[in-house]
Amino acid sequence: MDLSNENVIHIKKNGIQYLQFKKLLEYKDKITHAYSVGLDVDFTETLGEKRKNKALKDYKDLCNAIDLNINNLVKPTQTHTDRIKKVNHEINEVTFNSEEFYKIDGLVTDRTNVILATSNADCILLIFYDPIKNVIANTHSGWKGTLQRISIKTVEKMKKEYDCNPRDIICCICPSIRKCHFEVGYDVKKLFFEEFKDLNEIDEIIEETIPNEKWHIDTVLINKIILKQQGLKEENIIDSNICSVCHKDIIHSYRVEKEGFGRATAIICKKERK
Ligand SMILES: [Zn+2]
Repeated sequence: MDLSNENVIHIKKNGIQYLQFKKLLEYKDKITHAYSVGLDVDFTETLGEKRKNKALKDYKDLCNAIDLNINNLVKPTQTHTDRIKKVNHEINEVTFNSEEFYKIDGLVTDRTNVILATSNADCILLIFYDPIKNVIANTHSGWKGTLQRISIKTVEKMKKEYDCNPRDIICCICPSIRKCHFEVGYDVKKLFFEEFKDLNEIDEIIEETIPNEKWHIDTVLINKIILKQQGLKEENIIDSNICSVCHKDIIHSYRVEKEGFGRATAIICKKERK
């Protein structure tokens, strides 16, 4: 199975698989990034030693594959908030779910050698890069994060902290559950309708598939639209176009795997200038 398409390349290297966005590879002298394929990086404390060790090993293998040092990695405890945090100090020890990054769903930094990490199983992960200000961000936007517009809050944070111009910002949308499989009942549909009913594309965003019972929602399209409203250029919003459920054999999906589900990760890091 090869997931390569016009926007991403699927790399298989020494048994490790990952995706890279072609657009971000244009800046490979400045940044390094990847979205894991097949690895399981869930580091939740309650999962027990064995699972944690596997997560650590998989993170290490992925970092090694793209020439990064896992000791520089920071991953927040994602809890479907709309909070973005600036990483303004060195990371010298792998940092998973620490108190400093508790209940945080997005990270932003201009520091070199800090690996920003997020994880998902169906949720949207967004990798941001501003090549002018040389600032990176990495945000987890599940359906609850999308309702809270965390994608544009990331852009706002980049503006506020680093004076980024939205016109310069590139946003890459990792594999996630897509409209083809994101089926919801009335309560969730109502939340999306209330929040986004003013968008011209609302009929495309919410599609009734079983009358008065089931709806399919396009959370990726919502993010594309609100990012554009925020000032990002259409050509700088890059979609992997990959559905986690359609590719459940190699992309983790909570809806498919259910209890004990695995997680994939998106990582991005600015390189040390040599
Ligand atoms: Zn699908």
